[in-house]
Amino acid sequence: MRKPIIAGNWKMFKTFEEAIQFVDAVQDKLPSNDKVDAVVCAPALYLPTLVQVASESELAIGAQTMHYENEGAFTGEISPAQLASVEVDYVILGHSERREYYNETDEAINKKVAAALAHNIVPIICCGETLEEREAGTTEQKVAGQIKAALARFEAQQVEHMVIAYEPIWAIGTGKTATADDANQVCGAIRAVIEELYNAETANAVRIQYGGSVKPDNIQELLSKEHIDGALVGGASLQPESYLTLLEAA
Ligand code: 13P
Repeated sequence: MRKPIIAGNWKMFKTFEEAIQFVDAVQDKLPSNDKVDAVVCAPALYLPTLVQVASESELAIGAQTMHYENEGAFTGEISPAQLASVEVDYVILGHSERREYYNETDEAINKKVAAALAHNIVPIICCGETLEEREAGTTEQKVAGQIKAALARFEAQQVEHMVIAYEPIWAIGTGKTATADDANQVCGAIRAVIEELYNAETANAVRIQYGGSVKPDNIQELLSKEHIDGALVGGASLQPESYLTLLEAA
């Protein structure tokens, strides 16, 4: 059985004080780590402090993006070595907002996945289709292409520890959730791609999250589906109560 993983993606929300208050509010109330992995991906500026504040709890802290080089003249960027030096556990890679607004390419994402693994940071690799692609019936093709590009050159044992997030772009921040059956179908198609690239054991080990308007009132149904192993949550991860409700559903 795959352990569910619920990850909050705070995006560019919260002041420093609000971020600390959130961690203080949730950390003693988290369900056991045996049951569910609880992650919060916070603005980079807050990561070292949040790692320290959460150090005695089951809450893992993640970044929302990173560069693939360990150091260099890349003004404004943050490197995998830097994230590792403040003991960040996870990093979101290839979020659709990064792909769209910051020109993050499949090739760069593949390099970032390699860099994350080199530093023992678990990559949460995002994929997903636009509304036009869904309407054209090319969802699975699009997502398969993104996953194949992200996973190019890795071994099965490395892939087992990765997390994949299926986030249909039209469902992000719009209040429109994919139906649980539709989300499950695409997550199943992603698993089939991994089986085709590697083997059934690897495909069964990888955790696949759904993301896109996940809320306390739809999480249960999403998580009840065979191929959905958790959620990557934007808006509903910002308040301690709703974040805890999502974790309790897992
Ligand atoms: P929302 O949950 O706000 O739709 O955001 C989803 C998302 O982009 C998480 O990465």
